[in-house]
Amino acid sequence: MQPNLDAFWMPFTANRDFKQAPRLLSKAKDMHYWTPEGREVLDATAGLWCVNAGHGRPRIVEAIARQAAEMDFAPPFQMGHPLAFELADRLQHLTPPGLNRFFFTNSGSESVETAMKIALAYHRVRGEAQRTRLIGRERGYHGVNFAGTALGGMGPNRKLFGSSVAGVDHLRHTHDLTRNAFTRGQPEHGAELADDLERLVTLHDASTIAAVIVEPMAGSTGVLLPPKGYLERLRAICDKHGILLVFDEVITGFGRLGAPFAAQKYGVVPDMITMAKGITNGTIPMGAVAVRQEIHDTFMQASGPGIELPHGYTYSGHPMACAAALATLDTYAEEDLLTRGTRLHGALEETVHGLRDLPHVVDIRNTGLVAAIEFAPRAGAAPGRRAFEVFLGCFEAGVLVRAAGDNIAIAPPLIVSESQLAQVADTLRRVMSQLT
Ligand code: PMP
Repeated sequence: MQPNLDAFWMPFTANRDFKQAPRLLSKAKDMHYWTPEGREVLDATAGLWCVNAGHGRPRIVEAIARQAAEMDFAPPFQMGHPLAFELADRLQHLTPPGLNRFFFTNSGSESVETAMKIALAYHRVRGEAQRTRLIGRERGYHGVNFAGTALGGMGPNRKLFGSSVAGVDHLRHTHDLTRNAFTRGQPEHGAELADDLERLVTLHDASTIAAVIVEPMAGSTGVLLPPKGYLERLRAICDKHGILLVFDEVITGFGRLGAPFAAQKYGVVPDMITMAKGITNGTIPMGAVAVRQEIHDTFMQASGPGIELPHGYTYSGHPMACAAALATLDTYAEEDLLTRGTRLHGALEETVHGLRDLPHVVDIRNTGLVAAIEFAPRAGAAPGRRAFEVFLGCFEAGVLVRAAGDNIAIAPPLIVSESQLAQVADTLRRVMSQLT
């Protein structure tokens, strides 16, 4: 029986349309979802970029159940519990060397908020209280809290809320169909766009800028890979001016690009990494901020007596989230999932680029186990309409892909088989060939 759909105000969803024609999922296992009517749907989006080890993994399910029975909750302020320490200790072997202090949150948005507050506090305790400006990038997505909304670069997500945080500026995005269309892996052109940061330094003075946050690969705005040399250049400019560089790896963390983090894939080490999603395989809400040890240590030394960082959540390092995360990390390690994207990269690349000649396709991009197909907007229609129709058609045909603006994103669980990648491509081909 279908539930009453009225009371739930759904996030990031056209509520009025959805409630006319609801799309419900009620069961999941490994690579598949099932609708309440029992229809099987292949998951080509890892839920929402988070179920990297596939659904319903027994080891994770059992760890959560065990922890719920053993100790459901422990106060995180002035008290601790062993699993949070164990998890932080484990995570430092996955992040780049030096990024080995972890603050726990409950989501990607909270991780972004936390990282920005750490940046401000770090400068302030070192006597640089005037460094308050935060820099994001057009077409960035950093969640929906105030900092993430202000720093994000998606117009529709910002316009209802005014300028929510003062002193925020943006770099230009790097998406360039004229020079880089149909690139496999990193685009050749656009490293010079990192120099936008020098322009902002000239405009505002470096002494006012606290941090720059970018997704090494922008996910939610359509899988925009960093041009060759871009991240390196951003790192160099930040170093020159004492600006902290934050990578938002909420999507790219935990193996999406074929390495544990994009920082390792691209060989550029930021000062902080925000993460969430794959940390618990999407099971229990959790996020974290990895902080460079020198930043942590300098902050601790310069802080006054008592509580150094007056920040944290009731559910920071929640025991069930920690249990889920530890079991998730075991699963990733045992099945070598965090580098599987380097092995399946070629298979995904061949299948998606094979769709290039279908109608209205203007770009295809891919790396690791993520890809996007971009469509020309339909004249006179709502933005993103073609991608949305492809998403609907694929869902009807038993494959879940994601519509993101004019793009279809493909980001399956990292356990995906080559034949399942072929199924995704075949379904896309059938649906896309009908597109008007
Ligand atoms: N940052 C990035 C890069 C994201 O992709 C997301 C979510 N898609 C967030 C932050 C926000 O995460 P959450 O929805 O868990 O708050």
